[in-house]
Order: sequence, then structure tokens, then C-alpha cells
Amino acid sequence: MTDCLFCRMVAKEIEPDVVYETARVLAFKDLNPQGPVHVLIIPKEHISTINELKEAHVLIAGEMMLAAQVVAGQLGVAEEGFRLVMNCNPHGGQSVYHIHMHLIGGRQLDWPPG
Ligand code: AMP
Ligand code: ZN
Repeated sequence: MTDCLFCRMVAKEIEPDVVYETARVLAFKDLNPQGPVHVLIIPKEHISTINELKEAHVLIAGEMMLAAQVVAGQLGVAEEGFRLVMNCNPHGGQSVYHIHMHLIGGRQLDWPPG
């Protein structure tokens, strides 16, 4: 998947600002942060959209959420709070087709989102 931006990060062809990494997931700072804290948590395996998630991905999906918990603690937003978002396809606002969880915090977030 050399044409996938996030796969290229996993392969270290592009070096993002990594904040957390395990055998299965990678977390790095978003290039265009929407808050004082904005981290993307991705599976190292290429999965295009949430629609492609399978039973075999349950461990990876769970690990993404646990990674978010660790990163929120590391970056000091766990107590005050944060938001986890996964966008799917055009109506969801997905622009990179390798699933990723946004962790946004460090400011009061509005609800509902736009
Ligand atoms: P989405 O719109 O949900 O697909 O989110 C894609 C996210 O990837 C956006 O928040 C972008 O700012 C972010 N992004 C795009 N290119 C890079 C990059 N080279 N490094 C870090 N984040 C990126
Ligand atoms: Zn990919």
C-alpha cells in the first residue's frame, strides 16, 4: 500500500511526530491540529474505512481505544476530557483512506459537530 499516506508512515518512509507506538498501532500528531492536543491513532495494518472492519480486527480496534487512553494521559487531557472521532467516507468527512481515530483535547469542544 505504498500509495497510502499512513502506510508510508508505518513503513517510516514519512516520519510523523510519533507520540505512542505498539506492535499494532501508531499514534502521531495531526499536521493540522484542531485543538491544543490533536493526535491520530492508526492501526499499522491497512484498513480503508470503518466499513472494511472485520471480526479479525477486534483486537486492533480495541487497542486503538486503549492507545487513546494512554496518549490522553501522557498529554495531560484525561482529567479535563477529550473527544475521539472516526470519520467514514465523504459524509463523515474522511480524507485519508486508512482508518484513524482523532484524539482532540485541550479546549472546550462544541456539540453537535458541524
Ligand atoms: P480525516 O479527514 O478524518 O480523514 O482526517 C485526516 C487527518 O489527517 C486530518 O486531520 C489531517 O490534518 C491529517 N493529516 C494529513 N496529512 C498528514 C500528515 N502528513 N501528518 C499528520 N497528519 C496528517
Ligand atoms: Zn494504509
